[in-house]
Amino acid sequence: MKVVFLGTGGTIPTEKRKHPTLALTREGEVFLFDCGEGAQTQIFKARLGIAPIRVILVSHLHGDHVLGIPGLLMTMTQSNRSQPLSIIGPAGVSKWIRHICEDLTFHTSFEIEVKEVGPEPVLVSSQYQIDAFPLEHGIPTLGYRFQEAERPGRFRVGEATRLGVPKGPLWGQLQAGHSVKLKGGDEVHPQQVLGPPRPGLKIVYAVDSRPCEETVQAASGADLLIHDGMFLSEDVEKAKARGHSTATEAAQLAFRAKAKRLVLTHVSPRYRGESNRFLKQACKVFPQTIIAEDFMEIELRHQDA
Ligand SMILES: [Zn+2]
Ligand SMILES: [Zn+2]
Repeated sequence: MKVVFLGTGGTIPTEKRKHPTLALTREGEVFLFDCGEGAQTQIFKARLGIAPIRVILVSHLHGDHVLGIPGLLMTMTQSNRSQPLSIIGPAGVSKWIRHICEDLTFHTSFEIEVKEVGPEPVLVSSQYQIDAFPLEHGIPTLGYRFQEAERPGRFRVGEATRLGVPKGPLWGQLQAGHSVKLKGGDEVHPQQVLGPPRPGLKIVYAVDSRPCEETVQAASGADLLIHDGMFLSEDVEKAKARGHSTATEAAQLAFRAKAKRLVLTHVSPRYRGESNRFLKQACKVFPQTIIAEDFMEIELRHQDA
């Protein structure tokens, strides 16, 4: 699983930091978190391709997070996309997508499934689940948690041997969760030879927002927390007034949540060239902090792999 930062800037883009857009790639699928202006060109530059985009998860309807959607939909249509695209977001997202299609008088070559988020998980498969939670930003804004399903426990070779399971296809069947029958007629069940289930990876996206309890809970033990880090700590009053966070506040939240790593993004253009100051302030509280840059990639691996 890999996270690619396609846009890490604030409300006004700069040459180095474009509008907020993040891609999570997993087994051939791309999950887009927000889709700022120019997202599609960033996607091309990052060589991700637009065909594998499975879903766009919209945090809120501020222009810097959604103005890349019209262009992306048009390019998808020009490319004759046929597989459906999901767009998930807060109340109002359906109206926005409808307006794009009606006002720009174009018909997509594929079905768009728009979902305004309620309390239930927003996307579930056998391998992962995505949940939304409310953020504090002055207008309805959602954070998202991407949680992989638990993986089967480790195969205990010694135990399998002791139970008389011969090395070969039967081991594979047990590893895949199926019971097997031995030559003598005895049955061996997966739970007899597998260790405890191993947790999947957890990634949390909380942009734009003040620090809030919902994020602390969602990010509990997260492998990666991607959080609004728009301001340096001396500008905390500006952060409060505009519904954003400072580097120190985001770091305090990551510490409380016991997250494994924190990435600060949505960096205000006023601090051009001051990434080191963000890092210094955050690392005082939470040393495992990274300041996002456009096109930065983070590989996530299971710690027991
Ligand atoms: Zn924003
Ligand atoms: Zn905003």
